[in-house]
Amino acid sequence: MDFRRRAGLRPVINVSGTMTWLGASIAIEPVAPAMAEILPQFVEVADLQRYASTVISRVCATQAGFITASCSAGITLAVAGAMTGNDITAIERLPDAARMKNEVVIQAGHLVNYGAPLDQSIRLTGARVVSVGTTKEASASQLSDAFTSQTAAAVYVISHYVPVERLVSLEEFVKIAHSRNVPVIVDAASEYDLTGFLQRGADIALYSAHKFIGGPTAGIVAGNKKLVRAAYQQNYGIGRGFKVGKESIYGATVALDAWSRRDHEGVRKRERAYLALWRDGLVDFPGVRVSIEPDPTGNPLERLRVNVDPAVAGITAWDLADALAAGDPAVIVRDFAVASGYFYLDPCNLHPGQEHEVLRALTGTLQRARAHPVKPTPLAERDARRMADRLRWPD
Ligand SMILES: *Cc1c(COP(=O)(O)O)cnc(C)c1O
Repeated sequence: MDFRRRAGLRPVINVSGTMTWLGASIAIEPVAPAMAEILPQFVEVADLQRYASTVISRVCATQAGFITASCSAGITLAVAGAMTGNDITAIERLPDAARMKNEVVIQAGHLVNYGAPLDQSIRLTGARVVSVGTTKEASASQLSDAFTSQTAAAVYVISHYVPVERLVSLEEFVKIAHSRNVPVIVDAASEYDLTGFLQRGADIALYSAHKFIGGPTAGIVAGNKKLVRAAYQQNYGIGRGFKVGKESIYGATVALDAWSRRDHEGVRKRERAYLALWRDGLVDFPGVRVSIEPDPTGNPLERLRVNVDPAVAGITAWDLADALAAGDPAVIVRDFAVASGYFYLDPCNLHPGQEHEVLRALTGTLQRARAHPVKPTPLAERDARRMADRLRWPD
């Protein structure tokens, strides 16, 4: 019996992406046995993290690294390290940041919410966030102007939520920060490229082990040895609450190592076959428009965009997404843009055969809506219901 049925949980088919609220990603095959192997054993954790540092250094082509609880934790620890260096009393004083450099520069367009507001992961250190420009644009001169003698770090975010066109590029950002002797921390949580941001001048790059890398839930801190060392020292301070166990440290190194040898072309070919299957299965539905779109931050993957015209299809994009999510198994689509009339199908987190279940659920729901049009749920009502569901937990 599926463990989920034993626990009274609904199985989920994930065509949404690597989402914390759905359990992130499918851990790749060697990860679970590695974690099981270390769990009953003792190791010196600082040495295990030294081992992790060698693996991270090799895979990310950099000087040092360590594993923490999440990418979000990595932001806090990296910023804290830039503030305190290796000063033990300063480390223990945080989040009282009064007598140290305590400003962090970031473009306003980078202040995304990945399930929690990114600026909070900076503010947890006690630092003040100095945001530059507006959510849609920032210039090099505005950025330059934001640096003061109190600037401890500058944070740069790579995310599909960030509008790319009119913000300062990473290269220029690094040039400006380095001209002020300020280190650049790149949040690359959801990126395939484990070397490029450091090569382009970032001092620290941060990744989620549980996203594309297919590791356990953990964060990877990689980069300049002095800064990584200072970030690591936070484990004796505010990092305690971000503690990561031996099993996740080891599991993340196994996933990283496997990543560097994975058949990326083979994976992509399989994902493209899913997209073609869905496109061909949906293309003839009246009121439905499908197109294959590249990943917005340049990861080597595509998603299927599904536009729904409710007047013809008999259902809105969000009611369709919600109907799929209410199924058993639940089919969860990538729904952040449903208010604009479309959602995406993400092919990265499927077990073999689930691609057919996804198509069956979609075509079945669309056929029913054609026969019996679904009265549109007002979006405000949908938002209110979702918030009420969240606040009612654990009921
Ligand atoms: C997912 C994500 C995070 C958070 O990563 P966790 O490892 O889940 O804490 C931070 N920043 C961006 C851009 C993300 O996509």
